[in-house]
Amino acid sequence: MNTRRHFLRTTGLTALAGAAGIETLFAATKAKSGKTSGKGLVLRFVPYELQLRHAFNLATSSRKTTPDVLTSIEFEGLTGYGEASMPPYLGESVESATKFLSSLNLSQFKDPFQMDDILKYVDAVMPGNCAAKAAVDIALHDLVGKIMGQPWYKIWGFDPADTPNTSFTIGIDTPEVVRQKTEEATPYKILKVKLGQKTDREMVETIRSVTNVPLCVDVNQGWTDKNKALEMIHWLKEKGIVFVEQPMPKTAIDDIAWLTENSPLPIIGDESVQRLPDVIKAKGVYHGINIKLMKCTGMREAHQMLTLARSLDMKVMVGCMTETSCAVSAAAQLSSKCDWADLDGNLLISNDPYSGVQVVDGKISLIDKPGIGLSAHDSKWKI
Ligand SMILES: [Mg+2]
Repeated sequence: MNTRRHFLRTTGLTALAGAAGIETLFAATKAKSGKTSGKGLVLRFVPYELQLRHAFNLATSSRKTTPDVLTSIEFEGLTGYGEASMPPYLGESVESATKFLSSLNLSQFKDPFQMDDILKYVDAVMPGNCAAKAAVDIALHDLVGKIMGQPWYKIWGFDPADTPNTSFTIGIDTPEVVRQKTEEATPYKILKVKLGQKTDREMVETIRSVTNVPLCVDVNQGWTDKNKALEMIHWLKEKGIVFVEQPMPKTAIDDIAWLTENSPLPIIGDESVQRLPDVIKAKGVYHGINIKLMKCTGMREAHQMLTLARSLDMKVMVGCMTETSCAVSAAAQLSSKCDWADLDGNLLISNDPYSGVQVVDGKISLIDKPGIGLSAHDSKWKI
């Protein structure tokens, strides 16, 4: 049975999910979350299945939807919004996220500015559940930013003019589809290519038959021989590739360190680098790290990872899953201080309920609005 439909049926939300606004959905979950007493923080959450514009093909899987849970935290008339996006290969689900969120008691916190205590509590409730934790973290940041009346890039002291271009991902597919996707991606100044199969050179050649824009490649752990990987990286350098992400399995630490030492292109760790302690482990193994909110439990730890990586003289990219504009806008708050951004997750779905950060001429354009800068995509999605 479709897990989302099953969940909605069991919570009586089936009729609401299709047509009603986010506020109505969150209101319907009020009784479910049961954390509305007192004057503390009120957490609400609702499942929301992301519809992908194209089937998403990785080296090891393919899918057309992504399970997601939208969250909100309300405090004294203001509401912050968050999100947990859960690609199945990461091990979280609508069931695990709703179980985790149901277990939280945020009403015990009467001051949303005590973010350190609140988020330490959330992280300690149970291990794992990084996307569900991020959904709380993002909503709390959005709320606190709204109380302060400032966007987070300003609170952190980042210049919105410094945002990088975002890459746009071309997934593994037939040459015809790759050519079509590349032609559709002309507004973007940098493309990201998923590799890790026997068709790697064909993929790159196909894209190069359409465009000469810089490319970055994400192998998603798909190469297993370090000598062949290095040979491939030299070939990729001649094809105008900018960096290589997660070339080999995350457990092949010695091989990746050797590759990094000998590679003519920067090697970036993604699957290897989940949370803050992984940044130190990545020093000497990779040239840089890919920070994603869904891996690292949200904006607070992402900011810490960025600061730590910079102090270790490492490159930083900020990435995302397939997500709504909520989590993408949250991640974009960091982007001014990142070398590269891969924040196209909201552009890959067809049912984004929000709008926030924009891409203008390929470059991330932050919104000067409090919190994470989110607004309604449609009048029915009131925020
Ligand atoms: Mg990656």
